[in-house]
Amino acid sequence: MPELPEVETTVRGLRLPLEGQRLVSVEPRRPDLRRPIPPDLRQRMTGSTVTALGRRAKYGLIETDRGDTLIFHLGMSGSWRIDPAEIGRHDHLLIETGVGRRLALNDPRRFGSLDLVETSALADFPAFRALGPEPLGPDLTAAHLQRVFDGRVAPVKALLLDQRIVAGLGNIYVCEALHLAGIAPTTPGGRIGKPRLVRLVDAIRAVLTAAIQAGGSTLRDYVQPNGELGYFASQWRVYGREGEACECGAVVARRVDGGRSTFFCPKCQR
Ligand SMILES: [Zn+2]
Repeated sequence: MPELPEVETTVRGLRLPLEGQRLVSVEPRRPDLRRPIPPDLRQRMTGSTVTALGRRAKYGLIETDRGDTLIFHLGMSGSWRIDPAEIGRHDHLLIETGVGRRLALNDPRRFGSLDLVETSALADFPAFRALGPEPLGPDLTAAHLQRVFDGRVAPVKALLLDQRIVAGLGNIYVCEALHLAGIAPTTPGGRIGKPRLVRLVDAIRAVLTAAIQAGGSTLRDYVQPNGELGYFASQWRVYGREGEACECGAVVARRVDGGRSTFFCPKCQR
């Protein structure tokens, strides 16, 4: 499932074929993904020029010179293919640029989404309205976490997964950041002091940045025909490593709450 680093890597990978390019063809191949694709998407995007690409939380943004922004979410299984040799039945949006590059949004499970909004109203997009600060932006600080964690008895892991507190963090990177910061996932948010919150912010940035860099290094492979954008293998510290040795020598543990797994080290996370 694509998390923030995969979306960031995808956006960076799309920049080369799309930025500054005129879109001569924009063709949805079905009416919906997780929800309906705007019926006027083809008409509003065809003939436009891409002015910028960006990301908000786990959403990719493609901005055009018509004042519109295409918002894509990769859901559980989405990825973009650049210059695919052939179009498959899971390619649900096809884009062709003026210089003949072809892009396909592939999503076998169709949990992703496509929306087209006016760029000036982007902040009002329902999924963006209540989002907290970007984890890699300047607004995620220890002071922010201290303010929003104040008096909270909920486990820090649940608080970090709350998109209103930090935007775009998913299960993998919350597990990894808590391990790097040495904080037990069950610690009540309000009990974590400022020095540990400083460590936590640093850890969140470090695990995301490392994953984006790992994605960037695999990005070279994507320029091949049929290259897929969006997925790469990572070396996790604790995620998916139940029963294996932590770097401290203890054994990585797993607990399940509400169907979601938490991986942690009982020795070096307190
Ligand atoms: Zn450990």
